[in-house]
Amino acid sequence: MMQNKRFYLRNSRIFFINTPATHNALKIFVSRLFHETNGFAPGRLEMSDFQYRHGQDLFRATGDGSILGELIRLASENNWTLVPSFDLSTSPGSMVSDEVVETAMRHLDEDLPKALEAGLDGIFLILHGAMVADSFDDVEGHLLARVAHHLQGRSVPVAAVLDLHANVSPAMAVHTNILVAYRCNPHTDAVEAGLRTVNLLVDSIRDGNKFCTHLLEAPVILPPTGTASASEPMRGLLAIARCHECAELPAISVCPGFALADTPFTGLTFQLVAADSVDGREAANKASAELLAYATLHAGQGFPEEWSLDDAMADAKERAEFPTLIVEPADNIGGGSPGDATWVLEKFIEHDIRGAGVILAVPEAVAILQTHPVGAEVEITVGGKYPALSGPALTLNAKILRHGDGTFVVEDKHSHMVSMCGTRIEMGASTLVESNGITILLTTHPTAPMDLGQWRCMGVNPEAFHWIAIKAAVAHRQAYDRITKRSYTVSTPGPCTSDLISLPYKKIRRPIFPFDPLPSPSPNTKTP
Ligand SMILES: [Zn+2]
Repeated sequence: MMQNKRFYLRNSRIFFINTPATHNALKIFVSRLFHETNGFAPGRLEMSDFQYRHGQDLFRATGDGSILGELIRLASENNWTLVPSFDLSTSPGSMVSDEVVETAMRHLDEDLPKALEAGLDGIFLILHGAMVADSFDDVEGHLLARVAHHLQGRSVPVAAVLDLHANVSPAMAVHTNILVAYRCNPHTDAVEAGLRTVNLLVDSIRDGNKFCTHLLEAPVILPPTGTASASEPMRGLLAIARCHECAELPAISVCPGFALADTPFTGLTFQLVAADSVDGREAANKASAELLAYATLHAGQGFPEEWSLDDAMADAKERAEFPTLIVEPADNIGGGSPGDATWVLEKFIEHDIRGAGVILAVPEAVAILQTHPVGAEVEITVGGKYPALSGPALTLNAKILRHGDGTFVVEDKHSHMVSMCGTRIEMGASTLVESNGITILLTTHPTAPMDLGQWRCMGVNPEAFHWIAIKAAVAHRQAYDRITKRSYTVSTPGPCTSDLISLPYKKIRRPIFPFDPLPSPSPNTKTP
């Protein structure tokens, strides 16, 4: 008998099992639309800021460690046919031009009807889930509604995998049979989540099981610093989700959302993928009640206290436990910030700190430095583009230590960086300088501090630093926790501030915490 390979996942490793074939080789339509939009960050992203691929070009992701790359490998091993349409992806950043969304829609309108006509078994989309464009508050909901329009009632299941920070809209849930998000923050499980989603899609095709995704909105917006999966309220919510998963309810996702987006869909939601049956709906209702009660009781724990920069510096100096991280979530590059805030560097200089490492994205300064040889001392200005948001312009006397093209291969193949961008990262032309006894890596492109290869490609051993400035909220922990003795999360102004109340929201749903009080827990609510 012909055998088809099926797989399962354990501890992020994939194991294959042989099962009898019940279906001809599967045909799956695939596309990727991946961007997290920070609506409070300055600037606008155009088509040229995106990696743009179409058709067979999507197969260039083969072997790059991303969800798409792993799907291609799996398809080849299982003799599935992938029908590729478009790939538009880029790192988190500011608001997106409509042209990007219109390009995705144009390809969908051309490619999906043809694929359906030729015969299709399923649709799989790799999405972030928090993309916002000039005229589209809900880019992914718009995309999925268009998919549904083309299906015209055909029973071709639609599956999509989301980043944990997706702001999930009703349109996204209603037009997707299987909507699944990552479970870990830092996102070490992105590929695993992608493959889990594909597995459910394939099950649904082969076994004829029909699933639908129920959406549950909680009246809560959490700052990015409150969304770590090891901390409350995420830890408890994820545990409840795991407890309720069963055959009728095979996937429950907890998306704390991405707070730095002003949309009606911003905030904490749950996605419950259930069998389209009475049992499925009952299981989803039961899990929903428990998730909502826990979210309401524990939402306050998702607002971790932040240090003032002065207090953090004073405490860290007294304790002298090095390396010490000064983590600045307001300039969180992984949350779409420009990565050029000078608040921490200014404080290091003021405190005459030695043995510190700082990374800044300052293309103008890099362009000047690259015209000088290693060893030269050059006066440069960094920061100060938006002084109220990113700190003052600092004029530095910088001694050039090294020039580089800013390309590095990610050391940790499980890092979110790999699942998002592949293993090869490009910071653009970069120069390492020393100024005021501080080692400063100046890059052309903002590059989230998710991998130590960022330092090592410039000949720097980050373990040797006493102090390291980090522009992130949570995502750096996978790379830096193992080399760090102490860490201070500090409060500074910036487009990724954790002080949500200070942001000029206009479109968020109300009532919602922390802008409105949390609803009182029902008398029957139990704390797990
Ligand atoms: Zn995320």
